[in-house]
Amino acid sequence: MNLSRPHWSYSAISQYLRCPLQYYFQRVLGLPSRTVSGGLVLGSAVHAGLAEYHRRLKAQELIDTAAIRKAFHDCWSERESQESVLYREGDTRDDSLQQGLQLLELYLQEPPPDEIVAVERRILAPLSNSQGEYLETPLVAIADLITTADETLTIREFKTSGRAYSAADVESSLQPTCYVHAIRETFGTDANVEYTVLVKTKTPKVQRIRTSRYAADCGRLGDLVQAIQRAVDLGNFYPVESPMNCATCPYRQPCRDWGHGSRSPTELVSLDIPREVAACSPN
Ligand code: SF4
Repeated sequence: MNLSRPHWSYSAISQYLRCPLQYYFQRVLGLPSRTVSGGLVLGSAVHAGLAEYHRRLKAQELIDTAAIRKAFHDCWSERESQESVLYREGDTRDDSLQQGLQLLELYLQEPPPDEIVAVERRILAPLSNSQGEYLETPLVAIADLITTADETLTIREFKTSGRAYSAADVESSLQPTCYVHAIRETFGTDANVEYTVLVKTKTPKVQRIRTSRYAADCGRLGDLVQAIQRAVDLGNFYPVESPMNCATCPYRQPCRDWGHGSRSPTELVSLDIPREVAACSPN
């Protein structure tokens, strides 16, 4: 699949909605990020461990815990070699690492998913609006795990989170809509989505929430992407400052410079900062 062609993804859509200026720095100027949050590194490493586990299940191979832990550690090291990791106040690297391994081991104690169809599957699908008109730029969705039961596909999305998700978190998210739309376009069938949330509370727990999306939701997704595309084409990029957005934003300095004309986009791109490569990052 050619992923070098322009495409939309859930993370691009949600980034624009969260902070158009951050979208501009990352996806229009291509500014590398100097920092990454400890939570993101933990999430990436847990995803890498889960993918190794699910691949072994799918291939009916021996479940080798050492190999699963190795995938986790390799991903962690890779992220550390690329960016400076910022831990939250009171968190340390060792605590976070242990917490990630604990979450992974907790999931391994759950009944294993059966009827695995695909692991970390990238799906490229055209987007269409509520009028049925196709958009120029397609959508890429990367499903953590796809299973089937009674001829119904389920996309399983894994999250690591400091708190349990509410039903409203899942119902209002565009991510399940992206998955269901991609499956409908590619396989011509409906699908359910199940969130598996690995909750990083003092006593970690596994939370599962199922959700559905319908044709009207997919059309609305197309309408929204079309509106964002228009805004991007017009150069509508502005900061949305909030503690939630800015605390771990890697572009705080360029953001401070924004609007003062002190640095041109070319100057920003030439800043001497490490390249961002997120090969093991979750979508
Ligand atoms: S610092 Fe905040 S407002 Fe500025 S780009 Fe980052 S998220 Fe947006």
